[in-house]
Amino acid sequence: MISTEPQWRQAADAIAGAQRILTVSHIAPDGDAIGSLLGMRSYLLSQGKEVTSAIDGGVPPELSFVPGSDAILPRINSGSFDVMIALDSSDRERTGSAGTYGMAHSRRVINLDHHPTNTGYGDIHLIVPTAVAATEIVFDFLFFLRWDLQPDAAYALLTGLVTDTQGFRISATSSRTLEIAQKLMAAGAPLSEIMANTLNRRTFAELALWRRALGSVRLDNGLVYAAITQEDVKQSGLGRPGDGGLVSYLVTLEEACVSVVFKELPNAEVEVSFRAKPGYDVASLALSLGGGGHKLASGCTLAGSLEAARARVLPLAHHVVADGKSKHS
Ligand code: AMP
Ligand code: MN
Ligand code: MN
Repeated sequence: MISTEPQWRQAADAIAGAQRILTVSHIAPDGDAIGSLLGMRSYLLSQGKEVTSAIDGGVPPELSFVPGSDAILPRINSGSFDVMIALDSSDRERTGSAGTYGMAHSRRVINLDHHPTNTGYGDIHLIVPTAVAATEIVFDFLFFLRWDLQPDAAYALLTGLVTDTQGFRISATSSRTLEIAQKLMAAGAPLSEIMANTLNRRTFAELALWRRALGSVRLDNGLVYAAITQEDVKQSGLGRPGDGGLVSYLVTLEEACVSVVFKELPNAEVEVSFRAKPGYDVASLALSLGGGGHKLASGCTLAGSLEAARARVLPLAHHVVADGKSKHS
């Protein structure tokens, strides 16, 4: 944190001198996207700022339990801002049209993120790749500002910490992660309620999708992969993005080093999700395919058919497995 200190001061000064602030996050938002945005928003409102928050498409219904999420607009096409803050977004494209609009209509842009693949867009960088969630960086920033954490902000921040660490299970979880969680709980965040609303909650449609997709699972030399077709999505009645956690589940197989799920999208694109066991790195793979993420969880979107995506990605994923294995031995 010490090396980034000048940036933290710059961000603090930019915010202090700003009146109109726009906060955005990434498209297809997850708990960390919503949580980091709302935690920051709470602070800004407490300082009397005029805050606008937008994420393309708005907050998905499964994340609307986070207090204050109803204030996030589904689009923005008017107004100008002193500062825009992008949270949990590794590149410009990930911020969607809300971010594109914001970058064109804000005097300064703060890029707050924890993805090692962050491209360094914007003017002020609060980028901490060792943070387990963007909400951890927001927590540290608000501590740096000596702000007394309010219960709603604590709720939002703990949501990001819980979802990005999969309930404190990923290998990057440290004693510090738990210390932050403890402080957030002490400030009023209900851990079990957040767990119940995120990791311990799924729909029948997601189960129906799994039932279909599991038939496609293959295991090949430490690589486990599956495909979801548009027909699977239609037949299961899945009304939300993602794979219902399938790719994360597949990497828990004892035999798996890396898991990949290919999901056919309606617009002749394929969403590819990667997960890895510690010691394997799927971040650079996703980056080389135009996406991004973390060593152990990453993704990208490819144009073309499911077949083309599989043919392109599987050999590269096998390389990742072989690379990790050679480092182990
Ligand atoms: P997912 O598999 O969608 O849960 O994403 C896992 C991780 O990869 C998250 O940290 C995402 O931010 C990142 N990610 C997924 N898709 C993309 C993409 N198209 N571009 C950049 N990062 C991505
Ligand atoms: Mn995210
Ligand atoms: Mn995140």
